[in-house]
Amino acid sequence: MSEPLVIVGNGMAAARLVDELAKAALGRYAIAVIGDEPRLAYNRVLLSSVLAGETATHDIELKPAAWWRDRGVTLKYGCVATEIDVGRRELKIAHEESIVFSRLVLATGSTPLRLNVPGADLAGVHTFRDSRDVDMLLTLAARKKRVVVVGGGLLGLEAAYGLAKAGAPVTLIHLMDRLMERQLDAPAADLLKSQVERKGIRILLNANTARLRGERRVEGVELADGRRIDADAVIFAAGIRPNVTLAKEAGIAVNRGIVVDDTLQTGAPDIFALGECAEHRGICYGLVEPAYEQARVLARHLAGGAASYGGSVVATNLKVSGVGVFSAGDFIGVPGTETIVLNDIRHGTYKKLVVSEGRLTGAVLVGDVGDALWYLELIRDGQPIARIRNRMMFGRSLALSSEAA
Ligand SMILES: Cc1cc2nc3c(=O)[nH]c(=O)nc-3n(C[C@H](O)[C@H](O)[C@H](O)COP(=O)(O)OP(=O)(O)OC[C@H]3O[C@@H](n4cnc5c(N)ncnc54)[C@H](O)[C@@H]3O)c2cc1C
Repeated sequence: MSEPLVIVGNGMAAARLVDELAKAALGRYAIAVIGDEPRLAYNRVLLSSVLAGETATHDIELKPAAWWRDRGVTLKYGCVATEIDVGRRELKIAHEESIVFSRLVLATGSTPLRLNVPGADLAGVHTFRDSRDVDMLLTLAARKKRVVVVGGGLLGLEAAYGLAKAGAPVTLIHLMDRLMERQLDAPAADLLKSQVERKGIRILLNANTARLRGERRVEGVELADGRRIDADAVIFAAGIRPNVTLAKEAGIAVNRGIVVDDTLQTGAPDIFALGECAEHRGICYGLVEPAYEQARVLARHLAGGAASYGGSVVATNLKVSGVGVFSAGDFIGVPGTETIVLNDIRHGTYKKLVVSEGRLTGAVLVGDVGDALWYLELIRDGQPIARIRNRMMFGRSLALSSEAA
């Protein structure tokens, strides 16, 4: 008889895990997925494209209803899992009967952070995480509301671009002295800033939000240095917090995320975690690729095979700002590394490659990102690059064709 395997969360990690399990352990498990969003799992990454009007919301579903049905998955969406009884191997669900499991997987993702400042809970203050948020942001833009986006990382830039493209006057404020400081060095961030400003988005750096003004509804943002920005709506895009409450209340070890080992097992037997809610070797990844790599390993492990997750090399690319941006690996260059730089500001191109001990270890690209995946492969594979080093900066085809000649 199939063992009951329950997954909490119907997001990107859960969908990929079911896909991998269906290939690796067909029939071994009776799978149930409990998700609190009221729709089939969708590609959350593409919400930025939906906001920018480049993709329709019904086109982002990861799998059609029939796919889940054909694999015998019991899907409960619009349902919140509220408690894990570790000893009895039972999951409690709000307004539903409890469900027993032999294995449980937590794939609960993250929640956007709201800054802890006065006014953060006023009406008109929002976040950007799910498809309901996108519907609301599109309504704001259609009404030409003045929007302040707080946070100049990937999410904040994509929110600002989408809102501006949909017709809202947008100001983006960022605490640090450069945009995307966790992915870009200073020249790359400067170039990005000037390109985004050309799209009509106002950007304020070194902008520390002191409070949000307004009585019941937000009316503006006041910065610590006294600057004031009027606004009809404020969007927080200033980081995420892994959803760990279920695990924590069940006595499962959590740190920032739910602590897992190299087989994605938590501190409790037969309870696993993956995706944004998990913390592996001290890292909580906020990107989808690590979640997919974890899903592959966990499926193999659940299928009874030997599998181990050793961590991921992460890459980030900005999809919808109208400016190509890519960053991977050691993008600054730690001491002892060499950097190769091409800086053509006039043509909107900046490329930096970081080399360590004859291997590519990091890359930053702004403008021309055509070779991003090739650089990422080189970083991940760790192959020696001595033979292509001189031409590597000019892209794959030139580097490899000269090598062949
Ligand atoms: C707008 C946007 C753009 C992004 N762009 C990129 C990008 O370009 N590249 C990239 O790599 N990543 C990007 N990301 C991040 C990426 O979407 C996440 O890394 C990925 O979705 C993580 O998958 P997950 O399954 O761990 O979490 P999620 O996809 O968030 O899924 C978790 C699910 O669990 C549900 N849940 C939580 N608690 C419970 C509970 N108690 N009971 C039932 N259900 C529960 C949540 O509602 C959610 O549906 C973006 C994210 C956003 C919001």
